[in-house]
Parts: sequence; C-alpha cells; structure tokens
Amino acid sequence: MKCNLCGCEDTYVKNHEHTFIIKGEKINFSSYRRFCKNCNNLVYDAKLDNEASLKAIEIYNNNYGIPKEKIVELRHSFKLSQSLFSKIIGCAKKTLISYEQGRSIPNDNYLILLKSLMKEPFIIKTLVDSNRDAFTDKEYQKVITSSNNLLELNFDANSYNGYTKLNKNKIYNMILYFANKGVLKTKLLKLMFYADFLFYKNSCSSITGLEYAKITYGPVPDNFESIISDCLKNDLISYDIVYKNDYENHNIKSKKKFNKNIFTKEELDTLNKVNDFFKDYTSSEIVEFSHKEKAFKETEYYKNISYDYAFDINIDK
Ligand SMILES: [Zn+2]
Repeated sequence: MKCNLCGCEDTYVKNHEHTFIIKGEKINFSSYRRFCKNCNNLVYDAKLDNEASLKAIEIYNNNYGIPKEKIVELRHSFKLSQSLFSKIIGCAKKTLISYEQGRSIPNDNYLILLKSLMKEPFIIKTLVDSNRDAFTDKEYQKVITSSNNLLELNFDANSYNGYTKLNKNKIYNMILYFANKGVLKTKLLKLMFYADFLFYKNSCSSITGLEYAKITYGPVPDNFESIISDCLKNDLISYDIVYKNDYENHNIKSKKKFNKNIFTKEELDTLNKVNDFFKDYTSSEIVEFSHKEKAFKETEYYKNISYDYAFDINIDK
C-alpha cells in the first residue's frame, strides 16, 4: 500500500480517533486505520476504511436510527421474507438487505415507517391494504394471517375489553341479532354495550371482547364505524339514511340469518334480556337511559369505559 501524498510504501496501522458527520450528527469513535511512515498521511486501505465506515453507521443507527438487529427482529416477528417485507415498506429488496446488514442508514421515510411498525405492528395491514394491487392474493393472505397471529399474541386481557379476546364473528352476529327487524344505529350501539356489560356483570367476561368509549350519544363500541363498514362489505346488513323531522336516522337491518350456534346459552340469554328490556325504547330514550349509567358519568369523553362499571348498570337491578 502506497501513500497518495508522498508515494512512500512504508505504512503502519494505529488506532485512530474519528469524528464522522452523518446527517448532521457528530459520530465520535476510534478504529484502526493505515498511515504513511514518512508523512503520517492517512493511507487508503480498503478493509480498514470499510470497517471504519460500518462502525460509524452502526453508531449512528444505534443512537439516532434503528439498530440493524431490530430491523431483522421486526421482520421475523411478522414471519415475512425479505422480498415480501421490502415490498410492504416500499423499498427494493437489496435496500432492505443493506439496512439489515448495517451497510447503510435507512432514509427518513423508512425510519419513520419502521419505527411505526415496531410500535404498532398492526398497521402492517393498513400498509398492504392501501397498496393492495401490488400484492398477489397469496402474499396478501400471508400478511393478513401474520397480522392476525400478532394480534393474538399481543392480546392483553384487561378491564377495557372485559378480559376477552376480540371475536369478530360474535360482533357480527350480535349485530345480526339486534338488527333482525331493523334498528337505528344509535340504538344498536347501545344494545351492544348493554349486552357486553350485562354479560360481564354475570360472568366477568364480555361477549365480544369489544372496548366501549364514551361519546356524546353515550357508550359506543370503539371503532364502530369500521365495524359497520365491515358488515356492509360482507353484505351482512343494509344501511339506510332516512330523514324524519329534520333528524337523520341511520337504519340498519340484517340481511343474513343470525347464527346462534356460536354463542353459549348464557350469552343468548343476555342478548334476549337486553333486547326485551329495550324493545320499546326509541334511540333518544336509550341514549338518555345510558347517560344515567355510572359507566357513562364517571368516564371522560372519548375515553374507554372500564367493564368494572358493569356491576352498576341499571337494567339488572
Ligand atoms: Zn506519505
């Protein structure tokens, strides 16, 4: 190896203190580099120079970005190949490989995306849904399955879901039951609340695993808009908006038969009991009734309602 400056071929290696500036951040570290014995100029040494760059990237990623091991770990948590995972985050496979091997620094867009996925793994479904055409059916199914598995693994039994895993089939069939003869959306959402809370009162678990939140119209299932839109997508219900005395009435009616076989006898009894109790209530009457619940009164607006309040609900006293 030869010095560029003086042409001397006599060189030596020593531990050298570096300061690299990467994306505006000062990265200080030491690594072995080659120098000229004659003029002490840094001499090009492919192996040592490369090691120094990798070290700088590693320190940057650990301090300001994402450590490479974490990216591999993230992909493994989804059980996805490098090709499919790179497709989901929208980069070339070779780019992902260079991130995983710590050979480059993810650009800001990928950093944000990867960090979001680490925090909220379930957004992976949104990512593939918003770019559905880019995936084959097989790839799509793979991602959905892995996202569902994650949901199962990460299930956290707590007082907001009634210590019960979310059961979409029960949610849909509960809606089919209450909307059998047609029901206004506002009332339906309250009936669901009462069914889950009444069942919790008697069994310390909810029927659907749904979380309920407090809004102006009383307690409603969290994410109810997406539940309703799923029902529409699956052609389970019809949804009509009717204007009556200046009010918008959102009328929901079942289009499929309610499947009672997926419920236990106690769950069915609860559905019947709630349905009977409120059969003559209008939407506004049930809203008013729900406003008197401790569950409603003691929860802040837009916060989730604890099933602990189930023991105070007014329909079973
Ligand atoms: Zn020299």
